[in-house]
Amino acid sequence: MSEPSFFCEGDLIAVLTSKPLGQMLDYKAPVGGCWQGAFVEVPLGPRKTLGVVWGEGKGDFEYAKVRSVTGVLDLPIMQPSMQEFLRRVSDYTLSPMHMMLRLATRAPGLNEPPSMQHVYRKGPSSLDRKTAQRQQVLAVLQSSPDTDFTLKELVEASDSSASVVKGLVNVGAVKKVSIPKDTQFPMLNPWLVGKSLSDEQKNAVLQLKNGDAGYNTTLLKGVTGSGKTEVYLEAVADCLKRGQQVLVLIPEIALTAEFLLRVVERFGARPAEWHSGVTMTERRRTWKMIGQGKAQMVVGARSALFLPFKNLGLIVVDEEHDSSYKQEDGVLYNARDMAVLRASLVDGKVILASATPSLESWVNVESGKYKKIELMSRFGRAVMPRFEAIDMRKESLSSDRWISNKLKNLVEARLKVDEQSLLFINRRGYAPITLCRSCGNQIGCDHCDARMVEHRFSNRLMCHQCGETKPVPKVCPGCNREGQLAAVGPGIERLAEEATELFPDAKVAVLSSDLFGSARALKAQILDLAQGKADIIIGTQLVAKGHNFPLLTLVGVIDVDLGLQGSDLRAAEKTFQLMRQVSGRAGRTDKPGTAVLQTHQPEHPVIKAILEGNEDIFWNAQAAERKAAGVPPYGRFVGIVISSTDFKEAIELGQTMARNIRPLEKVGAEVFGPAPAPVARIRGRSRVRLLVKAKKSVYIQSAISEWVSQFKLSKSLRLSIDIDPQSFY
Ligand code: ADP
Ligand code: ZN
Repeated sequence: MSEPSFFCEGDLIAVLTSKPLGQMLDYKAPVGGCWQGAFVEVPLGPRKTLGVVWGEGKGDFEYAKVRSVTGVLDLPIMQPSMQEFLRRVSDYTLSPMHMMLRLATRAPGLNEPPSMQHVYRKGPSSLDRKTAQRQQVLAVLQSSPDTDFTLKELVEASDSSASVVKGLVNVGAVKKVSIPKDTQFPMLNPWLVGKSLSDEQKNAVLQLKNGDAGYNTTLLKGVTGSGKTEVYLEAVADCLKRGQQVLVLIPEIALTAEFLLRVVERFGARPAEWHSGVTMTERRRTWKMIGQGKAQMVVGARSALFLPFKNLGLIVVDEEHDSSYKQEDGVLYNARDMAVLRASLVDGKVILASATPSLESWVNVESGKYKKIELMSRFGRAVMPRFEAIDMRKESLSSDRWISNKLKNLVEARLKVDEQSLLFINRRGYAPITLCRSCGNQIGCDHCDARMVEHRFSNRLMCHQCGETKPVPKVCPGCNREGQLAAVGPGIERLAEEATELFPDAKVAVLSSDLFGSARALKAQILDLAQGKADIIIGTQLVAKGHNFPLLTLVGVIDVDLGLQGSDLRAAEKTFQLMRQVSGRAGRTDKPGTAVLQTHQPEHPVIKAILEGNEDIFWNAQAAERKAAGVPPYGRFVGIVISSTDFKEAIELGQTMARNIRPLEKVGAEVFGPAPAPVARIRGRSRVRLLVKAKKSVYIQSAISEWVSQFKLSKSLRLSIDIDPQSFY
């Protein structure tokens, strides 16, 4: 990557701001000049705003009228590789640059001087009047000479009071010092000795190290519990030893607690964290320290890709197949794919870890773009669980029960020997449908084309599209009769109710993302469960994601057919992955596990593939099917969603767009639709979809821009473009 240029005072420079101006504006470089990439403050209308010196100005404006940069901020410059990254993500996702800058500056107070805090240290003077409390304070300061105490910390540690400390400051025995609040992260020590590795793990580590210098991507595949994390922690150690920074992406905040513990165990200190559960102050600290190279490792969610790493050497994408890596609003990027781009721009490495890689990565291995390292066995004595199907057509269950007798017996057997069972259903809430037995009305959301889901825990109906809630009505809104509303179908809360009835002596715990106020509470709960604080865990998708439950030996999937409904391109892939993930929770230590799938269609090819566990056959069949159809990952999709409060306006624009497709035809792309989206209304806005299908080899983005720019959008219309869509709702 080229070196940044320097601009002298008065030079014309282009400055990128996070304001939606549609272009960059020219400014004059300030007194003393500035570097390309410098974070600056510029006047914009009557206000001042944060910007980045992007490069030379365009000079399309009368020089005398161009305003000057008003200040250069005390932040490390944005590196050329980061500028290039933002540009490329913008081009790929067709998102405006100001949105990219927003992603890259998602920490508060960057344009303010560093905020300071007072800390207390030992002062020069000695004491003439010594009270017990005063002595305690001095003793604390003396025993930890390298620690900066805040007032609160010092008072607590010495069991004194604020006035005692202030008294000591007045006589000079204690010094009050002002230091920046954003402090360096504790050093990780990559030289500590890790776990002793199995031969297979050692081999994997060797293969990882033997890669060529410079950029490469490796798919690290291994069944859950095979020790992938241990293996990639060795690659992390290597990178830290080279003095480079590491980013580990994790798909679910709830998983970070366990992972952080393992990092502390391996490297002796906690890395930085970056996700929605991190406080604003901590965010700013992380952002700044990453930029100064004073944080060696970040564990975070997808947006951590946009942190200003000073010297990034490795990105690990754990559970790379996880669909939550796709950002579904704002800039629609896939963090897995953008991690590969980010690393390639800094000659870094990427490790994609998964037990059930995405078909995309599978294909990239086949074509030689990615290396592949596979761990075949589980670590230690743990073995993969056995799969069994329960044919629900043969179980004559009453309509308000979901746990078959066979499954019930299996759970009971586990209870007798103090082992855990997991009952899995991928549906939040109590019941998906609230139906009037009298008139057949199903209660829907007022703003969306979706049913309201009963949540008995909070005693409300909730729309899973827009989050709107309302009390469960006593009277049917359709026919005004009382007492006729019935809950239909199971959700996780209802399954918990059934389990409590069937197993009255068992401790039942429910694990669902919406039942926890905070990420912290959820983390604590997961650690508790892993230590055996429940006999039966009832869980949604959340439990499938890589948690360790060592005492778990039975997984019961309540309705495996659920995921196979609908027309999602990846329905089979996702179901296959999910089932392998969920069943991977069982039998992690020395006890073999069993996974049972309740199904109405045991002969379905996907379910057969899961039961037989033959991945290669499954993936080959999937790959062949998609190749024949020319769909991702062999072809390219672009999803277009048009929304408006007025359905007619939305569908009319869709029709106009579908008729004027010259730019798309030129590159051989096809357009399907418009059609009302599967969820045809969200938050009061009607939604219409178009789908563009193109060959992988064409640069579809420019064709799409040319196509879309032909149409004028009225104020009430919104149009979103989703390159490589994951969701089709
Ligand atoms: P994966 O990431 O593939 O699911 P993990 O790395 O989490 O697997 O390993 C599964 C379990 O086995 C963890 O509890 C881990 O601590 C343990 N484990 C893995 N490798 C080793 C090793 N070499 N020595 C001791 N324990 C190990
Ligand atoms: Zn709604």
